[in-house]
Parts: sequence; structure tokens; C-alpha cells
Amino acid sequence: MQKLAKGLDELKNKNLLRRLKDFRPIEGMRAEYEGKQIINFSSNDYLGLSQHPLVKEKAQQAIQEYGASCSASRLISGNNPLFSPFEKALAQWKGKEKALIFPTGYSAAIGTIPALVGKSDLILMDKHCHASLWDGARLSQATIRVFGHNDVQNLKQILDRYTASYEKILIISESIFSMDGDVAPLAEMIELKERYEGLLLLDDAHAEGIVGEEGNGLASCLQVMDKVDVFMGTFSKALGSQGGYIASSALLIDWVINKGRSFIFSTALSPSSIAAACSALHIIKSESGTELRKKLKDNVAYFLEESPNSRLFFSPLIPILIGEEAKAIQVSQELEKIGIYLPPIRYPTVPKGTARLRISLTALHSTEQIDYLKGALKKCLE
Ligand code: PMP
Repeated sequence: MQKLAKGLDELKNKNLLRRLKDFRPIEGMRAEYEGKQIINFSSNDYLGLSQHPLVKEKAQQAIQEYGASCSASRLISGNNPLFSPFEKALAQWKGKEKALIFPTGYSAAIGTIPALVGKSDLILMDKHCHASLWDGARLSQATIRVFGHNDVQNLKQILDRYTASYEKILIISESIFSMDGDVAPLAEMIELKERYEGLLLLDDAHAEGIVGEEGNGLASCLQVMDKVDVFMGTFSKALGSQGGYIASSALLIDWVINKGRSFIFSTALSPSSIAAACSALHIIKSESGTELRKKLKDNVAYFLEESPNSRLFFSPLIPILIGEEAKAIQVSQELEKIGIYLPPIRYPTVPKGTARLRISLTALHSTEQIDYLKGALKKCLE
């Protein structure tokens, strides 16, 4: 226990200590934090669907009908009738034969990756991949080689050098990166994975609902959905709920049902979360989803002071690199004093010395709120 106390002290000295504080949503992106009214610029509820009346109603109905929990893993007695139609809708949305829902996106990663590769295999990971992908890769016991962030040249070098020594090759990347808000060179990665006969797992967490036809992600914009072997996603961002999934071939999904430990040994996602996510997907695919995407795109363009169509792909995540952890904390605290919630993102979420403020824009932010943020940032960053 003394060691733990010392460890916490060390974290504090390095400005890396994290503490939980109460956060109470009020309405839209307004919330109460530590007793103060703030505007939230850190939410992943990109389209505001967690607050959509229909999404809330469907969640409530599911509780009335099926109770608050599925009360067992899906292979025991937790396979609620809500799963199958939603999985079919997800598979169709992602252009795949089948989809499989997990309790969270994190558990989708740590269940799927070790089910696909093992000791005699090679994983190639983008340096900036999300922690869930890293943890899945480590659990698999495959050899992990890291390529530079979005660096396809480096990916090719590693493939050239190491492919021959391994049985299977799995390339892992995000589509829109969570900490940088930038976009993976998907077409080039696909070309390489085909040349070296590997598999590609693409985490679409921050692209879903945002880009692509009917919001179905980055690969759809590039018309390469059939070339991505496994899509991974989460319901906790644009889908306004909770839960994760993969979409792939029927064969691969059947394999993960049998081998994915986080799928087999964890209680099924709750009925309310399934129903909420399913309803959010219907909205995302509808006319009103298109409007919400447009509003979000307009908000991003407004913040960046550019035309909404000046980029091929847009990301709701806009990082402001600060560098030192202490400095990022200080700026974030200054912003908080004037009612802006933008917590610092620090190591180990991002590399040491690259602490940042990550602005997360949503369709629910008003132009007045964005103006207020811009003015405040100008003041605090000076
Ligand atoms: N992948 C990425 C890129 C993420 O940002 C997140 C959530 N922060 C996850 C996976 C995990 O998803 P979940 O929150 O559903 O566990």
C-alpha cells in the first residue's frame, strides 16, 4: 500500500494524477461541473443522439419490456431478441455479412484481436492507435511492430522486412484518429495489406455517423468497404449509447463468437443500450441524420473559419497541442473558470510532452457557444 501511495505522489508531481469529479448534464452541451455551469467541449455525443427524444423513448421501452439487464452472457441466456435485428442492420450499414455486438468498444478490441492472431503472427499498429487496440494486441501474444502515425512508407518497410517470418499479418489502424482528429491513408494501407496478404482491422469509432454515405464511415467515402476485413466500432460516440461491435464475414464473426473471451465471458449489453443504439442508427441513416451531420460539419467549419466543403473529410475532433502537461492543466483550468470544459489530454493517453486540449464539437453546439470558445482560447493561449 505504501508503494501505491508513493506512486500516486509521483503522478501528482509529474502533473499526471487523475481524479474523478461529478459531471451533471443539463441540456444540449450545457452541464454542471464542480458546482459550476459550463459548456462541454469534450463530449463524444457528436450528433447529440444520446439526448434525442426517440432514442430515450426506445431505451425506456426496452427496460419496460425486458428489464434493466440481460443478466447473463449472450451464449448463456443473455441473447435478448433486440440483438439480432440490430446486428443485421449494423452488418448491412457496414457492407458486411455479419456483425457482433460486445458490451463496449474496448471489449470488442480485446476480444477480437486475440481471437484473430496469436504467437506465430505479426500485428502492425499505427503508433497512435487507441489503448483498446494496444491492449487487444498485447493480449494476443502476437509480435507487435509499430509504424509511424499514418506513415505508409514505414508500414511498407516493416512489411518487407518481417512478413516472411510470420503466419498471419494483421494491420490495425483507426480511420479518424481519436487524439489527432486526422484521417488514415486508407487506400494505401489497403493496397499494402493486399500485396502482403494480410488482414486489416479498422477502428471506425470517430468516423461513424460523421462521414460516409448514411454516416457509415471513412471506407464508404473511398468506396473500399469490401476491402476492410474487420470494422470495429462503438455505440458510445455518434450513436449516443453504449456498447461496441465488429462487422466482417460470417466466418470471422462465427469464429469470434467461439474464441473472443470478452464476448464469451461478459454479460450481454443491456436492453436499453441496444435499443438506444439501434434507434440512433435509424436516425443516422435517415434524412434527419443527414441534417445533423451537416450541422456538425458547419460547426467544425465555423470553428476553423473555413468553408464547410474545403476538406474531403472532416473530423469533429480538433486538437490544440500544448506540450508540457503542467501547461495544459493550467490552460484547461483557466478555461474552466470562465465556463468552458476542455480537460487536458495527457500521458499515457498521448505521448509524454504532447499534452493537448482536444476540442470535441457536436451538432448541439450553437454558434454563440463556438464564438465564446474561440474568444476564450485566444485569451488563455496568449
Ligand atoms: N476506439 C477508439 C478510437 C476510442 O476512442 C474508444 C473510446 N474512447 C474506443 C475504441 C472504446 O470504445 P468504448 O468507449 O465503447 O469502450
